[in-house]
Amino acid sequence: MELVFRHDAYARSCPAIVTAADARGIRLDRTVFYAESGGQPGDIGVLRLADGTAIPIVNALKADGIDEVLHIPGDGATLPAPGTAITAEIDWERRHRLMRMHTCLHLLCAVVTGDVTGGQVGDGKGRLDFNLPNTALDKDHITAELNRLIREDHPVQPRWITDDELAAKPELVRTMSVKPPSGQGRVRLLEIAGIDLQPCGGTHVARTGEIGAVEVTKIENKGRQNRRINLALLA
Ligand SMILES: [Zn+2]
Repeated sequence: MELVFRHDAYARSCPAIVTAADARGIRLDRTVFYAESGGQPGDIGVLRLADGTAIPIVNALKADGIDEVLHIPGDGATLPAPGTAITAEIDWERRHRLMRMHTCLHLLCAVVTGDVTGGQVGDGKGRLDFNLPNTALDKDHITAELNRLIREDHPVQPRWITDDELAAKPELVRTMSVKPPSGQGRVRLLEIAGIDLQPCGGTHVARTGEIGAVEVTKIENKGRQNRRINLALLA
């Protein structure tokens, strides 16, 4: 399965052929749907048939293979037969908000030092947990630093390195709870030059300015070691 979002996060739709459809979901030969993983939700959208029928897709999940996406149809949808030509189309407004927040969480990793123990990208909001037992965190300071990095409009780009190169640089792995996908010979890194560099398979905006203004809404204590920083997009 060709994952179009991996090289073009801005692709909103693509033509595809149904390869299988059963109770678990619909598989295609290529897709723009990001499958839920790494704290980023799966895309929603539609599969359009040539006759105009639209099959609603309510989630996208990883299937057995590492590059396999299962498109989960809405209740009662008629499954397309294998071989059917369709157009796969995501809910772009929602995905773009997820890309903006996901990219902002990379900036948060740069502003707050400490091991990341968990995280979640949501629609218009997001959070990261840090292992920072005895550190005072200033909500207003973090908000100001994030918005400065956003206004500076830094380029954001993926870069690939080999498994061996990553093994030699364990400091690149900030997220303890999410191991980067390896074993395929190479690992995808997300780089915001001079600010953040870490393994990530998610979707991001091309420049930090596209994130728009954000704010830290809440900092919570989650257990003795975990500090949870919650963010929201302001527009
Ligand atoms: Zn990322």
